[in-house]
Amino acid sequence: MCRSPSSPADHDSDHVSGESVDTIVYILTSGGRRIPAHAKIMASASPVLENVIDRPRKHRSSEKIIPILGVPCDAVDVFVRFLHSTKCDEDEMEKFGIHLLALSHVYLVPQLKSRCTKALIGRLNIESVVDVLQLARLCDAPDLYLKCMRLISNSFKAVEETEAWKFLQNNDPYLELEILKFIDDAELRKKRTRKHLQEQSLYFQLSEAMDCLHHICTEGCTSVGPYDKEPSKNRAPCSKFSTCENLQHSIQHFANCKKRVSGGCVRCKRMWQLFKLHSSICESPDSTCRVPLCRQFKMKGGQQVRNKKEEARWELLVRKVVAAKAISSLPLPKRKRDQEEEQPRLVINHQVSVAC
Ligand SMILES: [Zn+2]
Ligand SMILES: [Zn+2]
Ligand SMILES: [Zn+2]
Repeated sequence: MCRSPSSPADHDSDHVSGESVDTIVYILTSGGRRIPAHAKIMASASPVLENVIDRPRKHRSSEKIIPILGVPCDAVDVFVRFLHSTKCDEDEMEKFGIHLLALSHVYLVPQLKSRCTKALIGRLNIESVVDVLQLARLCDAPDLYLKCMRLISNSFKAVEETEAWKFLQNNDPYLELEILKFIDDAELRKKRTRKHLQEQSLYFQLSEAMDCLHHICTEGCTSVGPYDKEPSKNRAPCSKFSTCENLQHSIQHFANCKKRVSGGCVRCKRMWQLFKLHSSICESPDSTCRVPLCRQFKMKGGQQVRNKKEEARWELLVRKVVAAKAISSLPLPKRKRDQEEEQPRLVINHQVSVAC
């Protein structure tokens, strides 16, 4: 129903009542209300209205009437007032947000469209999301469309129960398909992101293992030290001790194992791969590096004929670990560091088995 004429534009009507027919236009609403408006202001706010206003009239003396039908009178009222003042309060947005979005799209008023998009995004809920999605699609509002799709995708079970979804299933199979495809793609994106994060975490841990290996073999840690130096018994655990301790046990095992790599010992094989990884990223001259097997691996590296696929995988691993090492050497904001420290840590034996 159309509200009695106490419209915001009436505020203008006093103002425009004394002006000539060339400067005033009347907006006719579905409820039969005539809202007076400034022709120039309306024309400058909307290129669509500008075209209508500039169209020649049949009789020069006749009033210019522009019908805006199909939306509630009060929504048109708010729309006309917005074109005059660029203002619209939250209550009006709450009541007429969807109508104002449609009007802003049809009459090409980007400022109002952006206000409506933001307001509708802020008020999205399970019950309305399907209807708002359809509107966003019709009105070419990509931000709103994406937010609706994400809400549907994240709360699909609840959305499926709404009347709007049931109606859509019966009446718009193309949009239903579009939504289901978005949900599938979102799942795929989540899986990819999870996999990427797991891989990144692995490279960071391998990079830390490389730092620890270097530190154990040059300075020594609690139970293992350089071959020519006894480890200091009173040494306090280092800052990366959870990795370092594991690595020291693995080095001790490697040194004492009877089966060794050739005998099929998995633990020795992993340690051997860590030594090899060190050698691949080691930049010290052969004579100065104290990490076991570093020199041997470097010498072998040039002669060994390896499987090309395996070689490419190994090189990729080396590059990723080098990149992770470079990144972890950069100072990170405190919050980021705290987040990283909260992540569960893999034990060193597991790291290499995943990597190789
Ligand atoms: Zn240590
Ligand atoms: Zn072993
Ligand atoms: Zn080395």
